Amino acid sequence: MERHDVIVLGAGLAGLSAARDLAAAGTDVVVLEARARAGGRVEQTSTPDGRLVQLGGEIVGTFHTAYRQLVGELGLTLVPTFVASSGETSWLLGRQIFIGDELPWMSDADRREYERLEKEFSTLAATVDPDNPWAHPDAASLDRVSVADWVRAAGGSPAVLRQLELSARALSVESIERTSLLADLRKESAAGAEGFYNYEAWENERVLEGSATVALTMAAQLGDRVRYSSPVSEIHIEGERNWVRLATGEVISASAVVSALPVGPLRDVHITGVSDSRLASLHRQRHAPAVKVAAAYENSFWEEQGRNGTSFMEPTLLGGTWAQNDGVLSGLIPPSSLGEYFATPTNRRQSELTEELSTVFGDAAEAYSRFYLRNWATDPWTQGYVTGWRPGDVTAVGPLHGTHEPPFYVCGSDQWVCGYMEGAVRTGRGAAAAILTR
Ligand SMILES: Cc1cc2nc3c(=O)[nH]c(=O)nc-3n(C[C@H](O)[C@H](O)[C@H](O)COP(=O)(O)OP(=O)(O)OC[C@H]3O[C@@H](n4cnc5c(N)ncnc54)[C@H](O)[C@@H]3O)c2cc1C
Repeated sequence: MERHDVIVLGAGLAGLSAARDLAAAGTDVVVLEARARAGGRVEQTSTPDGRLVQLGGEIVGTFHTAYRQLVGELGLTLVPTFVASSGETSWLLGRQIFIGDELPWMSDADRREYERLEKEFSTLAATVDPDNPWAHPDAASLDRVSVADWVRAAGGSPAVLRQLELSARALSVESIERTSLLADLRKESAAGAEGFYNYEAWENERVLEGSATVALTMAAQLGDRVRYSSPVSEIHIEGERNWVRLATGEVISASAVVSALPVGPLRDVHITGVSDSRLASLHRQRHAPAVKVAAAYENSFWEEQGRNGTSFMEPTLLGGTWAQNDGVLSGLIPPSSLGEYFATPTNRRQSELTEELSTVFGDAAEAYSRFYLRNWATDPWTQGYVTGWRPGDVTAVGPLHGTHEPPFYVCGSDQWVCGYMEGAVRTGRGAAAAILTR
């Protein structure tokens, strides 16, 4: 039977970050990856003229320190994103298009109300420890309510609720009606408690060489330590005699096992030798599912219109768009529109999405050279997009979230406060450090 010091499951950013640190410390590590490629939820392709197009994770922010450090270590370059660009934002509300940075339905009183609520939210967020939200004296009651419940109870107007819901659609996270207040406070506390969602903190940089290049570079460094097309179906934990069974029936053993799998695919793996409470916690987590859309054009035509490529849309298939790269627009189909998207005949999807884009950006939006649709929602090796926390979920998942049960270690963006590439790298390197410390 093949034997190693450590088996890492999954060659996404988390598994690769863990394996890279383990290998650098002289550990004999093997990474088992279901797909025929590395990267997981970071994936890229290129247009015929050589521009990279990200089909998965793309952007990071100022407080994403673990990711930023890794990018530096790999010799890659961070550059500003659309957040730094001038130009006006577009709003598609019903069939009407509005252009400008002011939200068209908000009165001055609504705007003041929004600012007041944002301050209250930040003050409350600062009381939540992102690493231990369960220790908050009001954890259970903050988790029981949704963000929308809290806004209503705090006197927020329907216009304020609409703005927050539109932001959630554009980010493709769960509706504010279905998001735990505690989970959102935890997320924003991790980001410095600077408001409902501060774009500088979350989205101001990207890797010039391509976000997926971060994963591809680590995979290249690890070489044949990464085994592709090797889905894992079973994990057995027992002291030094741990083993993992592949779908082919092959069994590989190791002194430690690191799961870097998303929570959906992890539920499909049969696990023995791990405590019931840990399995219950891991299996209780869920994702907000999404489909990513990208359209490549000859140039960033929206700039000629004085626009920045950012749009917010309702009640469309797309939740919104942003400028990804020169001439490339990104968009996401959020959980609230996915039912309608999957009900749309496959041969109609692209044309209906194009219609939405051209309603926002005019006829020029129809002149793409390539159109990309990447369905992560039902992809068997992702089954989602980023973690989603419904009211009650933080309490139900509990303080085992993001912790280890040696020799079974857990990492991945789902094991951080709210997902994201930062969560993958931070927890991946954390798992490696925990193993090396032992
Ligand atoms: C469309 C989209 C846009 C996003 N945008 C951003 C963004 O702009 N900024 C940001 O920070 N984050 C973004 N994210 C989130 C970010 O990409 C992810 O959180 C992060 O890449 C996840 O890394 P991971 O290693 O934890 O998991 P994954 O990347 O999902 O890696 C898990 C790996 O496990 C493998 N696997 C699954 N099951 C098995 C099995 N049974 N056996 C073996 N291998 C298995 C998978 O194939 C995969 O390679 C986005 C995600 C998506 C999908």
